[in-house]
Amino acid sequence: MLVSDFDGVIIDGMEEYWWSARRCAMRLDPRLADLPGTVPQSFRTLRPHVLGGWEMPILAASIGGFGPTPQAFAAAYGSSLQLALLQLGWERSRLETGLDEVREEAVRQERQTWLALHRPYPWMLSFLQRLQEEGTPWRVLTTKSASFTAELLASHGLRPEEVHGREDGPKPTVLARMLSTLSPRASVAFLEDRLASLLEVQQHQDLAPVRGFLASWGYLFPDDTERAPASITVLRPEDLQTPLANW
Ligand SMILES: [Mg+2]
Repeated sequence: MLVSDFDGVIIDGMEEYWWSARRCAMRLDPRLADLPGTVPQSFRTLRPHVLGGWEMPILAASIGGFGPTPQAFAAAYGSSLQLALLQLGWERSRLETGLDEVREEAVRQERQTWLALHRPYPWMLSFLQRLQEEGTPWRVLTTKSASFTAELLASHGLRPEEVHGREDGPKPTVLARMLSTLSPRASVAFLEDRLASLLEVQQHQDLAPVRGFLASWGYLFPDDTERAPASITVLRPEDLQTPLANW
């Protein structure tokens, strides 16, 4: 069974991350009204750190000159996030709902514009289409809200068996729950572009049947493909020609 991450694996949504993060940040703090409309390079550079969408308005604020600097985020990401929440007076839950609100409005009022900010990776699109034609079930596991993920998948004719979103909890928890419902001989190929998430899964003994695959085309740090241990397979677009059964 293929279980695939969404952002940076199926879809390149960089334009949209900045678009929604910027809008969310501007609403929460009017001092951020001057944030640029095009994606700043520092936002692209910091994106591989991001685990949840709520972190992105914080990065927007940083780029706008409030909270820790982008350099501070690059040097110590986790502690800078915590410091930023304090300095900005923001809460994670407020950022999550703020981002959802911006996206809900976009889907209602500017659906086509919003959809066009997301670009599927062509090799992933044809790979998933092939799975669907063969009748091979696959799932999506993401930290994005399930409803937006489903909306985007549907706009490209993609029909996963299940979309596990932010609401379902941390990825290792969802994977453990999933394994308990599959046949004991089933193996799960977990495709991710965040090396830290793959490494975390390997720390869980009950997740031994989950094999990790790193999507080399996603939001990686420059040395991620070399840093990946042998137990994690680095996948390149051309590897998607190989049938899933032979992965
Ligand atoms: Mg990702």
